[in-house]
Amino acid sequence: MHDLTRCVQHPAVSHEGFASLAVPTYRASTIVYDDPQSFARRAERGLDGYTYGLHGTPTTRTLEAQLTDLHGGVRTVLVPSGQAAVAVTMLAVLLPGQKVLIPDTVYPPVRRLCEDYLAPRGIEFAIYDPLIGDGIAGIIDSKTHLIWMESPGSGTMEVQDVPAIAAIARAKGVLTGCDNTWASPLLFKPLAHGADFAVEALTKYVGGHSDLLLGSITVKDLSLRKALKDVLRMLGIGVSPDEAALALRGIETMGVRMAHAGRVAKDFAERLQASPVVSRVLHPALPSCPGHEMWKRDFAGSSAVFSIVVKPEFKDRVYPAMAALRVFAIGASWGGTHSLIAPMNVESDRSVRPWDASESLLRISIGLEEPGELWADLASFLAAIAAT
Ligand SMILES: *Cc1c(COP(=O)(O)O)cnc(C)c1O
Repeated sequence: MHDLTRCVQHPAVSHEGFASLAVPTYRASTIVYDDPQSFARRAERGLDGYTYGLHGTPTTRTLEAQLTDLHGGVRTVLVPSGQAAVAVTMLAVLLPGQKVLIPDTVYPPVRRLCEDYLAPRGIEFAIYDPLIGDGIAGIIDSKTHLIWMESPGSGTMEVQDVPAIAAIARAKGVLTGCDNTWASPLLFKPLAHGADFAVEALTKYVGGHSDLLLGSITVKDLSLRKALKDVLRMLGIGVSPDEAALALRGIETMGVRMAHAGRVAKDFAERLQASPVVSRVLHPALPSCPGHEMWKRDFAGSSAVFSIVVKPEFKDRVYPAMAALRVFAIGASWGGTHSLIAPMNVESDRSVRPWDASESLLRISIGLEEPGELWADLASFLAAIAAT
């Protein structure tokens, strides 16, 4: 063999005895075939077969299968981000003339998706109170084809009655999807509570280290999986095996990371209720949190994201006081090892449950730093707010 050919063709080596605990990262665009017949008939391999790198590799399929098991579904599809997971689900099931219902507390880019992308293309949307519960029956009309849920809600943490909404939707032939990013499948399983789509931003707790972007959609019906894969194939969307490999590494430690950070977050949430600058603490495990009863009934615990509301008289002090933070970083994409704090502009994203603009909401994500040091950092931040 000529050296130039030798450079292109990798020698086969033995895998005998190589039993690694890590999932190999298989990179591929091209998939090669043994003979022209199997190449010509590659479509017959179906959605679980391998035909082209964009449609799946053993690395991405391993992560999909792991998420499917955790959710108790039948298939999972990976997409490049959590936002893509919501968008692909909506594009897979909604046609012009149909309507999606979204909760007022939805992840704000999903509201933008409905307003600025779906609506101009003839797909209607309506916004509902996340605490509507079985009142959802009153707003389902003949156009309604999908009900979106996100529990707890972005920023303000209202816990939804997923089983009630899903049961009513099912009885009326309406599909339901639930953004489960806060809980992950460890703390809540939307499919077991009646939803048709369970969506995760793997970017958050599964990735766990603020270094990857990935989303997933898990279903319990193969025809819904086909609808999702059709969108991905036609829009040319796939995910990198490198991102999937990072997520496969992250998911191994997700349980201990979430249990630890969740415990610290709950402790901080309880203690913050006594702060003189805080009017309310929004954490699903606190009885004062809207929907707390649903959290107690349906969830196996709480993750490490919650919010505090700063009293109106201190609102102007919040931004300057953030200069006092030494351990917490200022940023949005939570679920990593670093603790984060993010001031949120809630009023611009509420139309059904109005938000008093004089109140200032800070979303907190607890990471893996030493809890005493984290608490001292929060305490000096709150002291800086109180100092006038
Ligand atoms: C972060 C987040 C998303 C979006 O995830 P990306 O991977 O950043 O696109 C969607 N839903 C919720 C609830 C989130 O917190």
